[in-house]
Amino acid sequence: MNTLERSDVNLPDYHTHTARCGHASGRPRDYVEAALARGLGGLGVADHLPLLPDRDPELSMSACELNDYITEVQELKVRFPDYVLLGVEADYRPQTIFEVGALLGSLPFDYVIGSVHHLGGWGFDDPRQMDEYAERDIDDIWIEYFELVGDAAESGLFTILGHLDLVKKFGYRPTRTLAGELDRLVERVARAGVLVEINTAGLHRPVGEAYPTLDILRRLCAAGVAVTFGSDAHRPQEVGRDFDHAVALAQAAGYTEFASLVAQPGGGRAVVRPEPLGPPARGRGRRPSPSTGAPR
Ligand SMILES: [Zn+2]
Ligand SMILES: [Zn+2]
Repeated sequence: MNTLERSDVNLPDYHTHTARCGHASGRPRDYVEAALARGLGGLGVADHLPLLPDRDPELSMSACELNDYITEVQELKVRFPDYVLLGVEADYRPQTIFEVGALLGSLPFDYVIGSVHHLGGWGFDDPRQMDEYAERDIDDIWIEYFELVGDAAESGLFTILGHLDLVKKFGYRPTRTLAGELDRLVERVARAGVLVEINTAGLHRPVGEAYPTLDILRRLCAAGVAVTFGSDAHRPQEVGRDFDHAVALAQAAGYTEFASLVAQPGGGRAVVRPEPLGPPARGRGRRPSPSTGAPR
């Protein structure tokens, strides 16, 4: 796909990054232009919130870049009203939750994607830290991860939970089904009323499938959890990537609607509006081949 190829679906893409995070390319404007060229229904810029307290220039912007980021996306909101949203992807880490909460509360984001990228001090989705998988019990990793995602849901800080089963990124699967743990997580997410994204980046990681997997999506759908769509684009040409596949996945899980976010003119977080889920029911959607993993 390139930026000029129009998508089969006109969903908004709420998960995109920019060069500010140190491991992506392009300005917010480039992502908006790519989304328009592709015919998407909207574009949310959601770059990584500065990591607290241990800033890594390859993982997020620094705190002093945050104001410029916000101003730049807000200018795009004015130029493209009802199309561009100001979002952010924030890490959920128990040890920083109060600082992150205070920071998020002071800033005018339309929505916040909450993501778990760390188990304690271990950045489990960072290709630079993969050796740790050999040191740990894989089932324990998954259980600890699900527990943290449930905590993130219940924190009340997040609009959308990012890549819900990210822990599968490198293909490390649990040795048993973990059905009980999964049921508990889905129940916590549903009770918290938070949205879950269908994130197509996983199709291009070693695991080779979108986040979350169909089985989890079915459970989420049955529990009444609404979904958004995100490419997790780290380059403008990745905006809206594989959304045909994502729609087919959502429909296979039983979804007939998705959650659209509507910015509030007076400020505050966006309002969630259910929208009918469009066409692609034909087939499973294209299944791309995975390549190397991006840092996060
Ligand atoms: Zn990233
Ligand atoms: Zn992420």
